[in-house]
Amino acid sequence: MRILSWLRSHALLIVALTSFSWVVALNHSGLHLSVGASVEPTPISPLPTRPNSAQLLLKSPTPSTPDSSLLPDPRPRLPLNTPSPKASPKLGHFPYPQAELNTLVAIGKYGGRVEKLAPEAAIAWQQMVSAAKANKVSIVPISGFRSIDEQAMLFRDRVRRRGLEGAARSVAPPGYSEHHTGYAIDVGDGRAPYLDISQAFARSSASRWMSKNAKKFGFELSFRPNNAQRVIYEPWHWRFVGSEQALRLFATARERG
Ligand SMILES: [Zn+2]
Repeated sequence: MRILSWLRSHALLIVALTSFSWVVALNHSGLHLSVGASVEPTPISPLPTRPNSAQLLLKSPTPSTPDSSLLPDPRPRLPLNTPSPKASPKLGHFPYPQAELNTLVAIGKYGGRVEKLAPEAAIAWQQMVSAAKANKVSIVPISGFRSIDEQAMLFRDRVRRRGLEGAARSVAPPGYSEHHTGYAIDVGDGRAPYLDISQAFARSSASRWMSKNAKKFGFELSFRPNNAQRVIYEPWHWRFVGSEQALRLFATARERG
């Protein structure tokens, strides 16, 4: 009885003590966790910032509908490493923007690689290939569109073997190749693959046929013998100039190349 009455009178104290021990236990585990966290801090990513309304007004042509910032930007986006069209020539080569990848059209394969061109160049290419075929001449694509990254690898490799100036005589620096535009193509003779990317290709029936007929389809040779760009004679490298867009892209090269 005495114990019971003691328990009753000290009930509050017991509850308080029990709670205190729980709090201490919790604090201990909390302390442990926080120590662990301080050893390996979790990086806190900043919250995405949304442009404020003033910025939206500046950006959007229709200020009354700020949600237009969510619509795709109609301006063509150039890759970050594309030089400005106003950039000066580099080692004799003019700057070119890289084509939008999703606009390119497959025109055939070289080895296992699919070659692509800009749509209007692809159509003209197919028409030219068919016309040549009717004359028993086999024109094949070797290299159409080439990205700036791919060009960087090619150029680096050539520089290693021939030095900077020497490399630029046969390979454009990244950002300066006509192949970036989707309007240039290296051509081969399907019946003489051993002449691929060699000056001897000029003697092939494909090259002779193109010298006579390619301009009817909007194609012209980019690097003639002794050109002002000081690029070697490339009888295999043709560019398409049969559309406004293509003409605009190659205007400087046609004027000064
Ligand atoms: Zn080429």
